[in-house]
Amino acid sequence: IKWTEGRGWHDAQLQPYAPLQIDPANMTLHYAQTIFEGLKAYRQPDGSVATFRPDANARRFQRSAHRLAMPELPVETFVEACDLLVSTDREWVPSQGEQSLYLRPFMFATEVGLGVRPSNEYLFMVIASPAGAYFPQGVKPVSVWLSEEYVRAAPGGMGEAKTGGNYAASLVAQAEAAAQGCDQVVWLDALERRYIEEMGGMNLYLVRGTGDDVTIVTPQLTGTLLPGITRDSLLRIAEDLGYGTEEARVSTDDWQSGDADGTLTEVFACGTAAVITPVGHVKSARAEWTVGDGETGPVTKRLRDALLAIQTGQAPDPYAWMHRLT
Ligand code: PMP
Repeated sequence: IKWTEGRGWHDAQLQPYAPLQIDPANMTLHYAQTIFEGLKAYRQPDGSVATFRPDANARRFQRSAHRLAMPELPVETFVEACDLLVSTDREWVPSQGEQSLYLRPFMFATEVGLGVRPSNEYLFMVIASPAGAYFPQGVKPVSVWLSEEYVRAAPGGMGEAKTGGNYAASLVAQAEAAAQGCDQVVWLDALERRYIEEMGGMNLYLVRGTGDDVTIVTPQLTGTLLPGITRDSLLRIAEDLGYGTEEARVSTDDWQSGDADGTLTEVFACGTAAVITPVGHVKSARAEWTVGDGETGPVTKRLRDALLAIQTGQAPDPYAWMHRLT
């Protein structure tokens, strides 16, 4: 779907997947006015197909558009575009367990010019790709690198927007993590480099307590981290499972000492791609420790199973999160 200044949204089209022809002076290539979303369509037990909270992705897309001085796409148009793409061939949606069809809606500037200002035309597109189970061999904890040199987002910056530049800024730290033998980067706050923010593509949760007295704690939304839809969903599910929930500032020192004295029992990351990933090991320039026993903990497993059961239609959906395609 195109957007042109003075005309608004127009020319919705369904096309076979094909390369785009881009002018060398296309403004996106130079000034990175681009935003995107990621969501999944899951096969349901009765053979139908449903997407998970597409309206939440649509609203986040609007907030990202606002931050990047781009036009707002109506929520219904976003959801309809995703529905239409999935409906063209429902056989794309895998029918086994955690497999899904990943949808990538995105928008970018299409005006040609070298002046720094908002483009006067844009293209919104959705592409799709079947996605296998994230852990085909069973859930395996990841190791993380605490990035103290590089930061991904600062107050007043673009951290809460889902824009390409944030990911470009993260690549050098991801390479550093890999060089340190770690799977993922954990970002810290820009000012003090003390407080935990999020991972490269996932939000973080720390689990305090055991048995009947469990609280899951996640960094609060202060504008510098992405408000994950999985993060939000888990706050709801956890409450209904009888866990306490808390949105708070958590320092790396609290994390390390909580692990050392046993008050902190599990840590996991969450996002659309992996749903929930346990964190087993932490490393920084100054310290290194194992989370709990380094294995997937019971709270992590229970939350993962509960959310996946809703997504794959194995459990009721009391929150009306699944959007069924008719
Ligand atoms: N943080 C970042 C930086 C991300 O890219 C993602 C993936 N969209 C998330 C968190 C998790 O968000 P969601 O649960 O909506 O996938």
